[in-house]
Amino acid sequence: MSPPPIVSRLDAETETYPLLTETEMNRAGQFARLRSVGSGEVLYRPGDLAVPLFILKSATVEIVQTELGGDRLVTVLRPRMFTGEAGMIGSQRAVVLARVTHPGDVLEISQESLRALAARDSQLGEILLRAFLLRRLMLIVKQLGNVIIIGSRHSTDTVRLREFLVRHSHPYTFVDLEIDSISQSLLDRFGVTLDEIPVVICNDTAVMRNPTVLELANCLGLNDNIDDSLLWDVVIVGAGPAGLAAAVYAASEGLGSLVIESHAPGGQAGSSSRIENYLGFPTGISGQELASSAVAQAQKFGAKIAVARAIVQLRCNRRPYELVLDDGTVLYARTIVIATGVRYNKPSIHLHDQFEGSGVFYGATQIESQLCEGEEVVIVGGGNSAGQAAVFLSEGARRVYILVRSSSLSGSMSRYLIQRIAANPAIELLCDTELVGLAGQDHLEHVSWVNKRTQAISSKSIRHVFIMTGASPNTEWLQGCVALDEKGFVLTGYDLDFARPDDQCARWPLTRRPQLLETSLPGIFAVGDVRAGSVKRVASAVGEGAISVGLVHKALADI
Ligand SMILES: Cc1cc2nc3c(=O)[nH]c(=O)nc-3n(C[C@H](O)[C@H](O)[C@H](O)COP(=O)(O)OP(=O)(O)OC[C@H]3O[C@@H](n4cnc5c(N)ncnc54)[C@H](O)[C@@H]3O)c2cc1C
Repeated sequence: MSPPPIVSRLDAETETYPLLTETEMNRAGQFARLRSVGSGEVLYRPGDLAVPLFILKSATVEIVQTELGGDRLVTVLRPRMFTGEAGMIGSQRAVVLARVTHPGDVLEISQESLRALAARDSQLGEILLRAFLLRRLMLIVKQLGNVIIIGSRHSTDTVRLREFLVRHSHPYTFVDLEIDSISQSLLDRFGVTLDEIPVVICNDTAVMRNPTVLELANCLGLNDNIDDSLLWDVVIVGAGPAGLAAAVYAASEGLGSLVIESHAPGGQAGSSSRIENYLGFPTGISGQELASSAVAQAQKFGAKIAVARAIVQLRCNRRPYELVLDDGTVLYARTIVIATGVRYNKPSIHLHDQFEGSGVFYGATQIESQLCEGEEVVIVGGGNSAGQAAVFLSEGARRVYILVRSSSLSGSMSRYLIQRIAANPAIELLCDTELVGLAGQDHLEHVSWVNKRTQAISSKSIRHVFIMTGASPNTEWLQGCVALDEKGFVLTGYDLDFARPDDQCARWPLTRRPQLLETSLPGIFAVGDVRAGSVKRVASAVGEGAISVGLVHKALADI
């Protein structure tokens, strides 16, 4: 096979909208149906499911974002170009409209044939995948897509939905009521009350008042392709780095793989502004970028990913194992990979819950950083996540205070972060210090802390506190099934103490011992931060996710 003409694909624009060569068109044609399209014909519109890929032979097609006020042109595709963007990889609904502007012939490739094409023709598959990902990025940057959020940058619910879409790499348009008075008066005229904000318009049709994340995910059809009647080879619970790595390897090795994620893909890593110690990224990579590439990779191999759905119970007394979703749906799994990670411990401080999302945060992403532009902020915690957040927030905030209980950072934070903090005049490190008070009306307004050595209390007008203290495992749903350590982390492999079996270990039914990463039940594995004794790092989580798939194959052979 001759290499592609590199010259025609040198810059980002040509990689986003590449022109296929005659040979590539012919190869794609083997997977396609040739058809004619007429002027004005709509090939697909926002919200359409199972949209085929169209490669243009002689027709011209415009791609537009449909809006209440009229269409916004995204691009015009000419002959030898093709339609589609990242949603196509995971069989998601279309986010834009495609309309024929000049009649002619097109090659129509169904989603099933597209998967066959990508599997058999890696060079063409790579051109398509790269263009799809770049197009999704372009839609996000230009705020084009099938969702409009009308809300306030200061509203907790608006932040919640925007964060979900960002973490899900879903393009959306944000209308900020703080600066758009016309939209505010429009909402007033339609009687939209304060607690019904944000208003979300989805696929041009559904208008939702302050929807839940699940309602938004359902409207966008993010979970449409999940078939709960199937018996899955492996169900992976959690789509952080560990779960996504397991999904990539499981799906690429032909296992029927389903990932269930209670929020959005990326896990803790998704809330990291810059991961600098992950192999292969010398200038660092944002957790968001890492997660969206991993999702595309897993979906490319055929893994299914359901978001905003939590597993609330494992039924382990029968095989196949049963996993109960938060709406009562039951999923059947021959094997399970537990990758549910950890969540931050909440300080037991008065009014803490009241300010969650309106002054108290657990992650420092682009959205939170915009909120504290030019203001003073407090970060509580002395680990790497606190250090990263401090360095990141100091780019926009006026001053960043780090409150640490111990007398130095040396035992808890990487040296490169300690050095950056020391060299940054906008960051003030307060050791031997504890958060003691939060106050305000609807939003956090005042923060107090105490120096434990001198007992001196400081109080400041600060509107943003980032809590990055210790974490606990997400294992409530496993109670009564697999052996946990005293802190609730999942015991695996050699850490399972069969000499002094607890109830769980006593149920091990096989003559062989549990494999590395295998829990006290055969065919159920634990990977990443949720596993007792794990190293709390992205690389180790990814490594364990990958290793677990080899072990899943062995466990499947036992059944
Ligand atoms: C801000 C921050 C910065 C960090 N920076 C670095 C760094 O620079 N380098 C580094 O190596 N490490 C870093 N870490 C640590 C690293 O992110 C974690 O070690 C890694 O994310 C662990 O991956 P995981 O997949 O095991 O778990 P997690 O990332 O915790 O993911 C678990 C996922 O499971 C989901 N889940 C939980 N319960 C359920 C349920 N019942 N049903 C369905 N889904 C569920 C969660 O929503 C979550 O998405 C950082 C962590 C944070 C918070």
